[in-house]
Amino acid sequence: MDFPYLTIASAAAALRQGEFSAIELTRAALQRIEAYNGDLNAYITLDPEGALAAAEVADRRLKSGDATPLTGIPIAMKDIFCTRGLRTTCSSRMLADFVPPYDATVVRKLREAGAVMMGKTNMDEFAMGSSTETSYFGITRNPWDRERIPGGSSGGSAAAMAASLCLGATGTDTGGSIRQPAALTGLTGLKPTYGRVSRYGMIAFASSLDQAGPMTWTAEDAALLLQAMAGHDPLDSTSIDAPVPDYAAHLNGSIKGLRIGVPGEYFGEGLDPALREVLDNAQQLFRKLGAVIFPVSLPHTEYAIPTYYILAPAEASSNLARYDGIKFGYRCDQPRDLSDLYTRTRAEGFGSEVKRRIMLGTYVLSSGYYDAYYRKAQKVRRLIAGDFETAFHQVDLLLTPTTPSTAFRLGEKSDDPVRMYLSDIFTINVNLAGLPGISVPCGVDGQGLPMGMQLIGRPLEEAVMLKAAHAYQQATGWHKRRPRL
Ligand code: GLN
Repeated sequence: MDFPYLTIASAAAALRQGEFSAIELTRAALQRIEAYNGDLNAYITLDPEGALAAAEVADRRLKSGDATPLTGIPIAMKDIFCTRGLRTTCSSRMLADFVPPYDATVVRKLREAGAVMMGKTNMDEFAMGSSTETSYFGITRNPWDRERIPGGSSGGSAAAMAASLCLGATGTDTGGSIRQPAALTGLTGLKPTYGRVSRYGMIAFASSLDQAGPMTWTAEDAALLLQAMAGHDPLDSTSIDAPVPDYAAHLNGSIKGLRIGVPGEYFGEGLDPALREVLDNAQQLFRKLGAVIFPVSLPHTEYAIPTYYILAPAEASSNLARYDGIKFGYRCDQPRDLSDLYTRTRAEGFGSEVKRRIMLGTYVLSSGYYDAYYRKAQKVRRLIAGDFETAFHQVDLLLTPTTPSTAFRLGEKSDDPVRMYLSDIFTINVNLAGLPGISVPCGVDGQGLPMGMQLIGRPLEEAVMLKAAHAYQQATGWHKRRPRL
């Protein structure tokens, strides 16, 4: 078995044909983790016993013939999903010793499908960041260049995938945290329509934006993982009660006549010229495959960053009020009185980016500023969503860059929050509008660092996005590149 070149689909076929067992596959993943995780810090909690036990059950299922495509597949879980009996930290000191008494719905569904969970991956603290540098458990390195960030906030999952320490991973995306790390590490990363995947048991950052999704090598693998993750959940009141299509069954076939829009606003001055060229090539290829390319306009694009950085912190400040040192999580030593308990617990338990967001959020929600900031941002959010609605009258998909540049150096932006926030410019709009988006590997820069293109779809049209991404991957080899470790 050549582990780094396996995909979920190819490993599932090999497991069925008995080329190797789930136990052997899991051991191979464990060996790679042993060899490379120390340096990369992709996983912050490992569960080798749990993984081997799950692999044993998977082997029995494979024999009895009731396996799913995920049965026996080693996966990595972002440490934002509650895992029963296994530490779940959100990469914060606040939850450094938190052991949940229940599984998140995503975790439960993946376990039921027979996936083998290797461990929990590093992330920006409470998913706030674009580089995985704000974690209480240290930074994660990019397997393509260890002096560079793997993206964030799902940077641990991205690094675990890129270094082949698993065959599939979960991420969450509030403003780009699946698509951006996928782009910077050469993966396919899919953020589903808001509400397609349950948020139950997924630690909340900004509840109206948060959405879980798969990070894989291929669109085909993304279809397989999403299949198991998606669906209505009575435990999440915002989850959508609509049937889940058979994503894998919709992958193949021609994309002839598919209308793809290219929004001019995403191809302005800040874009790396190498990325522009690569995206031109992608458009040409789509044309060759029979798609029709249209220029479109999303005029409110420039307001996305200020809008998001009002709304997301506002929701975060409310969600994070629960970490008060009383109910669960970190508590400071020897509090003098109640107010000392609250203030010291939160001062010691949260890192500086989280504190910055809480302060921003409480400010924009305060009575004197609510109308000027929070309410205004809600109105602009509506306008941004309206831009997409108009564009989707003309086209079926939108094609944009995922990020303005390839992976930046460790430390390059960590002292300058505004520069860090600006790196989300192409992904945030999609969350504000609640739409599905996928990042697909589409080239490399002069240093061999991966680049991603983003496809954006209509609400609940993940299948259309996946089909276009799959057609692109049938005709290109960017998703087959692996870093030399
Ligand atoms: N980088 C964005 C932020 O810092 C988005 C993070 C995310 O999607 N979780 O908020």
